[in-house]
Amino acid sequence: MRGAGQALITSRIVSRRWTARGALILCAACAGPDPADANAAPWRYALTWDPSRTELRGEVTAPPGDADVVAITEQARPFFASDEGWSPTRDGAHSLHWTITLDAAARTLDDVDRLAARGSGFVGTLDVLLPLPTKGEDDAPFTLQVNAPPGETFACASESVAEASWRGTLGELRRGPACALGAIAVRSLAPEYTRITIADLAPGANRRAAALDAHVVACTRATAAWFGRFPVDRLLLLALPTRGPTISGGSARGAGGARIVLDVPAPLRPHQLANDWVLIHEMVHLALPSLPPAQHWLEEGSATYAEPLIQAAAGRVTVESVWAATIAEFPQGLAPPERGGLDDDSSWGRTYYGGALFCLIADVRIRQRTENRRSLRDALRAVLAADLDITDFASIDEVLALGDEGTGTSVLRELHAATSKQPFAIDLDGLWRDLGVRLDGSRVVFDDTAPLADIRRELVQGPGAERTPDR
Ligand SMILES: [Zn+2]
Repeated sequence: MRGAGQALITSRIVSRRWTARGALILCAACAGPDPADANAAPWRYALTWDPSRTELRGEVTAPPGDADVVAITEQARPFFASDEGWSPTRDGAHSLHWTITLDAAARTLDDVDRLAARGSGFVGTLDVLLPLPTKGEDDAPFTLQVNAPPGETFACASESVAEASWRGTLGELRRGPACALGAIAVRSLAPEYTRITIADLAPGANRRAAALDAHVVACTRATAAWFGRFPVDRLLLLALPTRGPTISGGSARGAGGARIVLDVPAPLRPHQLANDWVLIHEMVHLALPSLPPAQHWLEEGSATYAEPLIQAAAGRVTVESVWAATIAEFPQGLAPPERGGLDDDSSWGRTYYGGALFCLIADVRIRQRTENRRSLRDALRAVLAADLDITDFASIDEVLALGDEGTGTSVLRELHAATSKQPFAIDLDGLWRDLGVRLDGSRVVFDDTAPLADIRRELVQGPGAERTPDR
């Protein structure tokens, strides 16, 4: 699941007022000198709060020049105040102070992709907490310094440069990097050449740190092994407290920096994560660029399809259990002809399992055309190798062309042409028969004399199996 990017207000006015679109625009009455490289001077933000956490106080310093125009996103407007307006600084820049009534905003918005109170802190996105520059190129820099009260801290999906200090580009900032603050436990892990910041908002979070960290490392390693590398080099993982037997939900988001939100039981015992599938599902999302809403099925379908394959390859589940779940669950992706193509049907079943069926059929066809030497995994790896991940936008045509290039076939583009805009008949029983797999009650029975048995053996593999040995 993903949150949509938030609206950005870009109009400029010469005084302070509310716009018709609901954003408060603030600009300096007089601009200072305009140095040749004003764009290289960062927009500097600072945030602080006191232990009551009722109010977040901020200051922004705009570079010299006429770039010092900011807008408050509509969601934050009722909670935002800036009585003084811009004041000039000694170096010709301008600074602006503001406050946001944090607890009231979080109660009203109550959305982790805007602002919400969870556990012992808040989660949200920087585009709600900060006034955003409406001028300035997307590649111009910003910095953020946070002064938290004792015992409290801040975490952010932007690049960390020092203790309590982050940086990024205005383009990233405008997309709204995820963040969290409060009496939260923040720590960094560095498995498999990536850097994961875990921000745990559960009260008493340190008591579940060992179990949660071990699970994050195991899932990171399993995902990295399957893709050849971990999909992103920087990830913010926000662990929210929930009740229940295991991780009950999650989402991945790439806007302004990769982040995963997980609803993790609090208190937590290690066995409660043994059967978790959510974290690897979300980690697969990191490997695909953000697609237009009509192609959400490929985002969810690839995560639904790849997650059990990653679990099996890591030895976290058996090959038989993957086939049992595949045969039982994938029919949810079938749809009657009147529902149209994948692009036209945003239902849950078609989005998750219709997309997964697309991936399964593509995987089988790629293997058929390449004598089992290439697979859907090669296609997904090729997209990553082109430096595309969840923090990027791409069209499905771009993604599928890269994927086909990675397998030396045109399977993905052909299958997309056949399934996206019109109904596509799928004979699942015939596919299971050809692959040589069926359910006998709850028992999985394989038929190695089936015409596609060789492909079936390599579709789902256990740990350490580059090629499955002959049975
Ligand atoms: Zn998902």
